[in-house]
Amino acid sequence: MKKGFKRYVAFQLMIATMCFLVSCSTNTLTHRSQLSLVSDDEVMSTSATQYKQFISTNKVVSTKGGSKDAAIVNKVSNKIIAAVKQYYADLGRTSELDGYAWEINTVQSTEANAWCMPGGKIVVYTGILPITQNEASLAVVIGHEVTHALAKHGKERMSQGLIQQFGGQALSIALANKPQQTQQLFGAAYGLGTQYGIMLPFSRNDEYEADKFGLVFTAMAGYDPHEAISFWHRMEQFSGNQKPPEFLSTHPSNENRIAQLQSVMDETVAKYYHPQH
Ligand SMILES: [Zn+2]
Repeated sequence: MKKGFKRYVAFQLMIATMCFLVSCSTNTLTHRSQLSLVSDDEVMSTSATQYKQFISTNKVVSTKGGSKDAAIVNKVSNKIIAAVKQYYADLGRTSELDGYAWEINTVQSTEANAWCMPGGKIVVYTGILPITQNEASLAVVIGHEVTHALAKHGKERMSQGLIQQFGGQALSIALANKPQQTQQLFGAAYGLGTQYGIMLPFSRNDEYEADKFGLVFTAMAGYDPHEAISFWHRMEQFSGNQKPPEFLSTHPSNENRIAQLQSVMDETVAKYYHPQH
């Protein structure tokens, strides 16, 4: 057995054991069991603090300042948020969104990026707008990011980081002992990687989940989900030699991603898309 593989197996075993000893919860959206070394409350409050800090140290454009970019980001985000609320209401799980205090901000940047932190803290960078080009594609992007938050993908990465870097300490203890490193880890786990220069890419499976439910929310928001295919083709052309985080991550490849989207397209359209004539 190769050394790296041995270490990987040992790490997976450790996660399985911790899952058994600590707590794993089943996610409403994905129905997957997740390792959670961090409580939702801890994650929400750290998220709110980091979001505030990010907003105050980056160039935010707003509708008050007459930004058309911000106007479109707000419009599409609000439609996606309404779709999410409807989706959870249809499942009778509205209370799961209780801790959410949705916020939408548009940041002036050449980076083609977007993210959503726990509790519904959305950021869209203006650098992605030339690629989305229309509301439906922007809905695809925001739906994807919001799904990462709802599916608590960052929480899994954060939990794994706490095991690897802090021997499995709870978030609050890690924050008290090593605030700077813990904040960096949190940022990297939740999408602020470039801010700190460390990237923790989402797993391939996380990306597929975000694509799949992002498509559902796009359809429920009244946008044609087929736009997702054109968007990813444009992303393919754009990615060429630059690889910003999240959207241009190498895994899954755009080709696999498009194939996966196409495999759920008909069902999503039939079930969730009611075009407004
Ligand atoms: Zn993603």
